[in-house]
Amino acid sequence: MSDLERHWDDAGRASDEAPRWARYRADMLSAFPSPCRSASDPLALAIAEAVQLVDSLRPEPLGPAYLGGNAALAIDFDQVKSARIAPEMASPTDVVRDVVRLFEGGPNWGHPLTMCNVVPQPNTVSILAAMLAQVYSLNILEGEYAWNVHRAELETAAMLADAFGWDAAKAGCVYTYGGSGCWTYGVKYALTRVLPESRAHGVRTDAKVICSQQAHYTMLNSTDWTGLGMDNIVRVRTDVDTNAMDVGHLETLLRDFAARGVPVAAVVCTMGTTDANAFDPADRVRALLDRYPNPPGFGRALLYCDAVVGWSWTFFQRYDFDTNPLGFSDDVLKSLRRLTTAVSMLRYADAVGVDFHKVGWAPYGSSVFVYRNAEEFESILRRPESPYLQPRSPYNPLDYTLEVSRPATGSLAGWATLKYLGYEGFQAILGGILEMKMYFRHVLDAAPNFACANRDDDGLCTLFRVYPADVDGNAQFERELTEPSARDELIRHNRLTRAIGDRLWAWFREGRRVNGLHTPYLSFSTGFRVTEYNRDATDPEAVVFALKAFPMNVHIRPAIMRHVLDCVVAARDEVLSEAASVVHV
Ligand SMILES: *Cc1c(COP(=O)(O)O)cnc(C)c1O
Repeated sequence: MSDLERHWDDAGRASDEAPRWARYRADMLSAFPSPCRSASDPLALAIAEAVQLVDSLRPEPLGPAYLGGNAALAIDFDQVKSARIAPEMASPTDVVRDVVRLFEGGPNWGHPLTMCNVVPQPNTVSILAAMLAQVYSLNILEGEYAWNVHRAELETAAMLADAFGWDAAKAGCVYTYGGSGCWTYGVKYALTRVLPESRAHGVRTDAKVICSQQAHYTMLNSTDWTGLGMDNIVRVRTDVDTNAMDVGHLETLLRDFAARGVPVAAVVCTMGTTDANAFDPADRVRALLDRYPNPPGFGRALLYCDAVVGWSWTFFQRYDFDTNPLGFSDDVLKSLRRLTTAVSMLRYADAVGVDFHKVGWAPYGSSVFVYRNAEEFESILRRPESPYLQPRSPYNPLDYTLEVSRPATGSLAGWATLKYLGYEGFQAILGGILEMKMYFRHVLDAAPNFACANRDDDGLCTLFRVYPADVDGNAQFERELTEPSARDELIRHNRLTRAIGDRLWAWFREGRRVNGLHTPYLSFSTGFRVTEYNRDATDPEAVVFALKAFPMNVHIRPAIMRHVLDCVVAARDEVLSEAASVVHV
């Protein structure tokens, strides 16, 4: 027996004579999960303990909407530069405690007072699915490293394609790093189709990426990082009332590009803009792309739908609106019918971006780029196979994906969510949020100084303004929206809106109470739309600021929405009384 063989016994214990590294290694066994079954799995126990520890940061019922007892940002930004790696190994418990400490003060997305943005609390099954993917480090770069788990990605493509009204047998998808990753996949797909030689020689032609004025700013990331260049983005005007793409303007642009021989790489329809929830008319965009094809020598332009916010309304395409089995109110049904019509236009897309971490109640890293024609996408983007890896399954996406290793975390979270919630689960959650939003709107309408600023859209959030106690909110808002002579008032009340928004943020962080209850975590928009007389957005100040309530989680109840209004009134009164006292000094 060599020395090396004598270091450990059969149970893995190190002998006293073993060198220090070997004893260290034996002690370290608990640093990794046991690969075999054991009576009390140390990993399962450690996970339970860690989850309990982090959960102990949750507040008492209706406590503050952040985790832990200290809401302050506890980072000394100079101090972080002196972080160093310790010479010796630490105890796992200490490190887990350090990890949990970092959660202090962090957002608690499931808290009923959390309504700041389109950020959902992940559902339990999706959390478990994502965690399990981490335990076994599953990788969907190719079949061999994911084995049966790559079914999650393959089946996601079929399930979503079928829901969008595509042929599920022909579609495919790749899970990727976010809605911005989906946009980037969209631009790359478009460039590869329209300028095939760009793969080998680089992008040498200024092909255009056309999207609306309301499109997400990630258009900059995608055109920049693909080397197309941000100047090749062309913005189509949007309708002031609906915020949707003005197809008349799109037609003018396409006609002009066709006349000048300029190729269009892609038209991007945003299906559900982040705040205004506008849907671009993908059916009419498709018709225009057919009418104005690219000049000879270039491939067909791609129609990409950025549906990361709006995709899940697709689950209402199979809802029976006549019998209304879930019993939604008439107001909500009206919204749902409009949303269903708008989202049904996904059927015209070549590819669609979906975020499960937005309106899909799953953890981050679960975005998916879904394409109608898998045969095309997967062949035109193909690269030579890697000498490191042998294909052991017919499905080896590393040959055409941006990423090489791709964790199965997102695929499993998304797939598990689809299997778990099904059509009806999604309908109940989405419709339920609309019921809360509608209730909030009625509360606003009954309050004298408020104006709902997004009355015409059917999205999940309410954008609203509050005015001083002697002002009729709706009449004032109407004036500010339409009359150039009210521009100064608009700007003054925009300032008030921001001050109230900042005050509410401070109260949320301070743990302030109103009527004995903690205050909500809201946010605000500094320009979610322009005024009627500023349609082309030439006046940067003639825009509408608004407070935002995004009731994304299922723990929110009507009484909470009423409390939100009380808190806004209290914040307004405090801001205005301070302003008055400043003037009087
Ligand atoms: C959030 C968002 C994105 C970017 O998505 P990430 O998942 O944050 O990368 C893109 N488009 C729209 C419309 C969005 O709302």
